[in-house]
Amino acid sequence: MEVKIPSYVYIQKNAINKLSKVLERIGSQNPVMLTDGIVRELMAEKIEKLPFGGIFIVEKASILQARDVVLNVGYGDVDAVVGIGGGKVLDVAKVVATELNAEFVSVPTTASHDGIASPVASFKENGKPISISTKPPIAVIADTELIKSCPKRLIHSGFGDLISNITAVKDWRLARDLTGESYNEVAVAIASMPAHLMVKKAKEQGFRLEDDIETLLRGLIMSGVAIAIAGSSRPASGAEHKFSHALDYLGYGSGTHGEQVGLGTIIFEYFYEKAYNDGDWGLIRESLKAVGAPTKAEEIGLSKEQVLEALSYAKKIRRKRFTILEALDLSKEDFEKALRETEIVD
Ligand SMILES: [Zn+2]
Repeated sequence: MEVKIPSYVYIQKNAINKLSKVLERIGSQNPVMLTDGIVRELMAEKIEKLPFGGIFIVEKASILQARDVVLNVGYGDVDAVVGIGGGKVLDVAKVVATELNAEFVSVPTTASHDGIASPVASFKENGKPISISTKPPIAVIADTELIKSCPKRLIHSGFGDLISNITAVKDWRLARDLTGESYNEVAVAIASMPAHLMVKKAKEQGFRLEDDIETLLRGLIMSGVAIAIAGSSRPASGAEHKFSHALDYLGYGSGTHGEQVGLGTIIFEYFYEKAYNDGDWGLIRESLKAVGAPTKAEEIGLSKEQVLEALSYAKKIRRKRFTILEALDLSKEDFEKALRETEIVD
């Protein structure tokens, strides 16, 4: 199996200035750019200097939007698709690049989830979440100066998505041991090491934007690489993601993806600690608290009943992905106890 991982990764102040060099290095003659209205305005001066054959404004994260761009481009000789923006823009850009068989260059303006470098695009179609496999980015240009100015909530969301790798890889290990699923230690190490590092740092010193944004971005980009190596989201998505998807399906609460999986990570780390003596849910909770991420259901507009319903609904999601949910067959009482003990609900 051939694994494609990014050839160029820049995580630094003013990294955006590297974009024209990167386009040159990958031999792009006819790149197009996808962005949103705000970013376009913000960076008008810089963007104008770049050799784009077309600039498209992404209004909605949808497959339709991606198709629209593809039709507009007309399968011409576009050889690179540069996405500059948040998750919405990057998801559409990934699909467009894949459709056009062009290189994808990811220029995230937030650090809110691991989609910034992953070969997966996530959309909501008719209110239901779906994911599409796409080609991985050939380059990731993360401008820390730009990203630092994004809302704090998006940064702690990225933290939640990164540390969810801790329970995700345990689920994978469980699947290997109990069902014989193939397993990749390199992908596991790449996904989980930055997550553990981030938790430890947060516990010791909170989240210091100036120093820690780089570590967070590096971790999120490595999650994307781990997904590319594994050939699926396995190393970055386990039971805690099923819980988050369940909330999305049910339409409960107001949490971001990262906030939801952060709560899910506390819950399933709790069960790993109780059932397998492998985990420290208190540490996960402390670290989320230290970065200002929610650790209580009510903080993202969820009632106890809604969380319980989502946890039992989570068992129905992606049954083929074996997780602790399948291994333990947890009851409503088990969930209630976990929520009480972890103080996710009072
Ligand atoms: Zn995620």
